[in-house]
Amino acid sequence: MNTLKYYERQDLLIGTFITQRIYGENAENAAIKALKELEYIEEKMSFFRKDSDVSKINSNSGENSVRVNKDTIHVILQAKKYGNISQGAFDITVAPIVKSWGIFTQSQKVPSDSEIKSNLKLVDYNYIEIDEKQYCVKLRKKGQMIDLGGIAKGYAGDKAVQIYKENGIKSAFINLGGDILALGEKPNGLAWKVGIQNPNMDIDSYIGIASVKDKAVVTSGAYQRYFVQDNQKYHHIIDPRTGYPSQSDLISATIIADISIIGEALSTPAFVMGLEESIKMIKKLDGVEAIFMTKDENIHATSRLLKSFTLSDKSKKINWI
Ligand code: AMP
Ligand code: MG
Repeated sequence: MNTLKYYERQDLLIGTFITQRIYGENAENAAIKALKELEYIEEKMSFFRKDSDVSKINSNSGENSVRVNKDTIHVILQAKKYGNISQGAFDITVAPIVKSWGIFTQSQKVPSDSEIKSNLKLVDYNYIEIDEKQYCVKLRKKGQMIDLGGIAKGYAGDKAVQIYKENGIKSAFINLGGDILALGEKPNGLAWKVGIQNPNMDIDSYIGIASVKDKAVVTSGAYQRYFVQDNQKYHHIIDPRTGYPSQSDLISATIIADISIIGEALSTPAFVMGLEESIKMIKKLDGVEAIFMTKDENIHATSRLLKSFTLSDKSKKINWI
């Protein structure tokens, strides 16, 4: 087998660009199977599809428990877990607020204060009742909704990698709209090199490069999705305590973890919490590394990345944490 031969494809799927680069005999087959799985996850976990598990849960809030798929249960359980870990900065019941801001729709707008206040009463992930044995979910309060937009893509990435492994793949790279997963190492035995996007620069301009093997690299930032009203920028990550786009000192939060669902469920709240609180959160967790960029353009990274993360701008210094 020529180990340098690879199969690469790009698709527009689940609302984002997916790039797969897979080495090995069975690469094309694995890529197609992975895409099918991503579509399946989107079908179950989309906020916008009427027949998704998420929509069924949302339309039955305050009334019925709904039987859903086991993948959906898993993602909701993980979301609750990271809700606890982030002390509520990650909260999938922020959905009514996300909806009132029109995030991901054609009609983005600043909601009224009173609309935000009344929706805030619906935000609390502790009100998600889960029956793990029966695969049932109920939202306790009428009007409550969940949105898996801050985590489902991470689960999808992990599933893709699982499919690669099941198909005998030892070396692969997948980019799901900025969530990067590296399976194994490159066929030449070197680590994969992942560029960490600079939020203040054009796309493809990097603050630095992380070298990784068997890792997921996930970034949350205000630059990824936003709208402008009355000369003011409003981004898509909501502080569940205020109902407004978060206003921390961070402009991007990158998490490097073994799997991308962890990266997703930590990068979104880290961005909300800001540098100091995020450092405290990350330091308590095993196997989780982070790279933060603050508004004043300083870079902070966990010290275990010393050998594997380098800045593009050599005149700058990393503040190791
Ligand atoms: P990400 O791009 O992974 O940081 O996730 C952002 C998406 O997650 C938004 O587009 C919303 O759909 C949803 N979201 C926004 N704020 C939060 C939050 N504080 N906790 C959980 N999900 C959120
Ligand atoms: Mg996320």
